[in-house]
Parts: sequence; C-alpha cells; structure tokens
Amino acid sequence: MSLVKTRFAPSPTGFLHVGGARTALFSWLYARHCGGKFVLRIEDTDRERSTQPAIDAILESMQWLDLNWDEGPYYQTKRFDRYKEVIDELLAQGKAYKCYCTKERLEAMREEQMKKGELPRYDGHCRDSHEEHSPDEPYVVRFKNPQDGVVAFDDMVKGHIEFKNSQLDDFIIQRSDGTPTYNFCVVVDDFDMGITHVIRGDDHVNNTPKQINLYHALGAKVPVFCHVAMILGDDGTKLSKRHGAVSVMQYREDGYLPEALNNYLVRLGFSHGDQEIFSREEMISLFSLDAISKSASSFNTKKLDWLNAHYMKTLPAQEVAKELAWHLQRQGLDASKGPALEEIVKCYSEKCHTLTEMAQKVHHLFEDFDSYEEKGVKKWMKEGSVEVLEQSLKVIENCEFTPEALDKALEELAVKLEIGMGKVGQPLRIALTGTATSPGIGDTLCLVGKQRALSRIEKAIEHFKNLA
Ligand code: GLU
Repeated sequence: MSLVKTRFAPSPTGFLHVGGARTALFSWLYARHCGGKFVLRIEDTDRERSTQPAIDAILESMQWLDLNWDEGPYYQTKRFDRYKEVIDELLAQGKAYKCYCTKERLEAMREEQMKKGELPRYDGHCRDSHEEHSPDEPYVVRFKNPQDGVVAFDDMVKGHIEFKNSQLDDFIIQRSDGTPTYNFCVVVDDFDMGITHVIRGDDHVNNTPKQINLYHALGAKVPVFCHVAMILGDDGTKLSKRHGAVSVMQYREDGYLPEALNNYLVRLGFSHGDQEIFSREEMISLFSLDAISKSASSFNTKKLDWLNAHYMKTLPAQEVAKELAWHLQRQGLDASKGPALEEIVKCYSEKCHTLTEMAQKVHHLFEDFDSYEEKGVKKWMKEGSVEVLEQSLKVIENCEFTPEALDKALEELAVKLEIGMGKVGQPLRIALTGTATSPGIGDTLCLVGKQRALSRIEKAIEHFKNLA
C-alpha cells in the first residue's frame, strides 16, 4: 500500500473552531497511526474573506494542540500558476469550456427552473456553443461534468454514496476575475500533494461527486473519503458561539490544557470501548477510521472540565508549568520574580480546575499586595491573632525552611498556645497571600520564600496592630 498522506485544509476566514480542530486531529491521528504524512494547507483563495490574523490563529492553535505537520503550510494563493496550467489543459482537451452567459441570462434561467419546480442548475448553454466572442468579453470556465451515469464512492464513515450525474451541473472552476474555485483547487492540490485520505466535515459530502468527476478528468487516483458528522451543542443544535467558547484559542485563554482538549476532541466521534482517557500515544495507536461514529456528537463542557482536572493532576508538573507560564504572562506577571513554576503546580493542581484560576490564585507569589481580603480578615483576624502572628514569626525565623519542618513547628506552636491549628494557619495565610485560602501552610511559606514571608508577616503585624 502506498504511504498514507492526510491533510488539514482550513479556509482562513476566522479563528480555528473546535469542529475544525477535531477534523485536524483526526487527520493528524490517522497519518501518525499509519506512519504516514500529514499536510497543512491554507485554502485562502477567497481573498475577501481570508485574513492574516485568521491564518495566524490557525497556525497558533495547531501548534498549541501539538498537531505537527510534515509538509506545508501550503497556501493556495501561491499556487495560481499551477491552477491556471491545469485549467488550460482541461480547456485544450475539451474537458472544460468558457461560458459567456450573462448574469441576466443565468437569473432568468434559474427563475424559470424554480417555477417548474426543478432544481436550479446550469443548462449547458455554452457547453457546445460555437458562438464567436471578442477577447475582452468576460467569461467563466466550467467543468464538463459527465451527463449520464452515477458517481459513487464508499465513504469510510457514511458507507456507500451515489449521486446521479444528471443532478450535477457544469460547475464553475474559474471565475470571471480569473481566480479558480474551491472545488477545483482542492482536487488539484490533493492530487499534486499525493493525498490518499481526505478526512473532513460532512458539510462537504455534496462537493465530493463533483470532485470525483474532476479526478477522473485529470486521470488521477481518487482518494479515500471520510466525512465526519458535525458537532452539536449540549442543547442538540449545531455548535456555535451561542454555546460559549468555540475557538481553540479561547479554550487556551480559559485555562484548559492542550492534552485535555485533544482528549476531549478525540472522543467527539471516536470511541474505543468505553475508554475516556487517552494519552497521546494511545490515541495514535488506537485510532482508526472504522471507529468513527456515523452520528453527530454533542459538546459537553462538564466532561471537558473533568478531563482538564484529570490532566492538571496527572501530567508531569513541568508540562503543566509550561502552560502556566503563558497564563502568568497574560496576567501581567513576571515569572522570574517567583518560585519555580513546577513547585506551584505541585501545590495548586488539586485546588484548581483551570490554569487561569491557578494563575489568578498565585499573584501573591510574584508581586506584593497592599490589601487583605475582607471576608478572611473578618473571620480570622480576631483578638489575639496579632500575638499569634508574632509567635509564629519567631518559630518560622528559627525553623528549617522545608514544608514538613514548618508544618510540624507550627502545629507544635498551636498545641503550646492551646488553640486550634486554624487560628495559627489562617492569620498566617492572610499575612502571606492576602487571602485565607492557600495550600498547606508549610508549602505556602516555602513558595513565598523565607525573606519575603518574614517581611510579609511583620507587615501584617504592623497593619493589624494599628487596627486593633
Ligand atoms: N477549506 C475547506 C473548509 O475549510 C475544507 C476543504 C476540504 O477539507 O476539502 O471547509
């Protein structure tokens, strides 16, 4: 069998949404599973709707999800000479023709067909016409679609699909401004790039018979098609912005890990028994086109949250730390001004659902603060708390600075003072973090660092003493 080659071919008219990312993931997985190649192609021939920010967002999203490509990105706008060459060949071979029909004629024809209850389609007026035309008369180029028989293909997901050629029309392959159209470029590209498996959304099923006829006209081998059913929102309607975040980068901003999103996306349409958690390696080894579901899948944010919590806890801390660094920077924090990010992850991953939340909770590790959370202060800074802080300061100053030793020493202090540990730990948390919630007190002290911890406790003593 020839080397498997798949591709992801987004049109850069907006951010990369989860539907596109799922298609990209499936194409990537299939290539990796087969030891084949994965191509990235930017379908930017619609110059009015394609934008550079959209291209950048697609590349950034693919990199973040770590869907690495072996070839490309190819840009269709850089391949116009090649498309022109193929169109000229098709014209010369009589497999395509110039159509000079005016807008008015086409509109009248369409109206007439609608009136008769027929499907609107080009009537082939210029197909065999020998009318003379002046060189400056505008024209489009149409493909001479076969008029009889059927186009059939065995879709890897949908099974056998047939279209009658009589239902298809001679579609335009070159517009009057000279630019080639989607259905044409996609075939030339997939042919030139040696694509063996076309995995894409099922909104393209109706384009496939036209494309297959073009493959035949070019004498090219038709690839295997795999049309994946769409993604629905949790209310059963087509997934859209109404359902919340749909762009991949929005998920990053909201604090999800790429591992969680990939795992989530692979389950939107692919299953292996009732397994929910798939490492990257498992996804690659278990993925198969046969196991793609025929029916649409529904988006379920709770499951994504659950997967994210799972990966935050189980991935190596240094992996999570890389992503945390991005969030800290986004929140305007200088990572060099605090403890090692891995240590933060170890202490906070059980307490947070997302990295955005984690980054928000650790501002005190990177910058000083001037105010204390009111609720915590009201609850914990009672009569005697300042004295407890003073005693704690002495203990901490003289203690070995490790979480275990600090926890032990402060517990001993609570016993000595005959008070609960909360009355020692909570005022300290307020002094160290400005809030009454943080990981274990020994961990919190070590993350803040000895010098900074001591000066924050002193500062809190002064602050609350004056208030008393
Ligand atoms: N550019 C098309 C799109 O974004 C995909 C074309 C294809 O996969 O064949 O919908």
